[in-house]
Amino acid sequence: MIRVTIFNEHIHEKTEEAVQKVYPHGIHGAIKEFLEGENVVVRTCTLDDPECGLTNEILRDTDVLIWWAHVGHEKVPDEVAQRVQEAVLKGMGAIFLHSAHKSKPFMRLLGTTGNLSWHESGTKERIWVVSPSSQIAKGLGEYFEIPNEETYAEPFDIPQPDRLIFIGWYTSGEVFRSGCCYNRGNGKIFYFQPGHETFPIFYQKEVQTVIRNAVEWAAPVKRIEQLDCPHTKPIEK
Ligand code: ZN
Repeated sequence: MIRVTIFNEHIHEKTEEAVQKVYPHGIHGAIKEFLEGENVVVRTCTLDDPECGLTNEILRDTDVLIWWAHVGHEKVPDEVAQRVQEAVLKGMGAIFLHSAHKSKPFMRLLGTTGNLSWHESGTKERIWVVSPSSQIAKGLGEYFEIPNEETYAEPFDIPQPDRLIFIGWYTSGEVFRSGCCYNRGNGKIFYFQPGHETFPIFYQKEVQTVIRNAVEWAAPVKRIEQLDCPHTKPIEK
């Protein structure tokens, strides 16, 4: 059983009618709906929960954390961001979706600004699979298309991914590293670009496939209790 926690800031869905229409139960609700199943149990939390719902206890009970946020990045306390960072170093998996490229845990874990260029034309994106043998691309064809998406463009200020899975191409001419894998400590991290709040992207089959695959990929192999530098005795004399 993989235990997933979805953190969604849950602001747009409460303040903008257009977003409410697309995600009446919140973006976290839409993701939980398709993700929960035989092998996956899902809990959700938002900025409205004390400590964003991300206490040490919850993080210890989480195999993979999914993060969607946009306008509320600064509302996440630094200590919560640090807690998430440490949980990943200890082995928890993390999936950052769309505008989570500016979230505190993402920037802490990767050490860069996560800055990118963007415009909201809402045109088509074609996502090319550049690592077809990756577990994250399982079940996809050579590419898939999102009919309407916000444009994210290079340069994207991230470290070179340990493995690049997707490159997005937009009809307005830009390209973007849309699916990036990293290892940090014992944890695995996946950044996935689709998911602007005004478009029904999390209902799309291919997007759901990628997130499902990414959860399996990011699930911990080894978790440690402490982040320390232990003094040891020589094994042989
Ligand atoms: Zn967006």
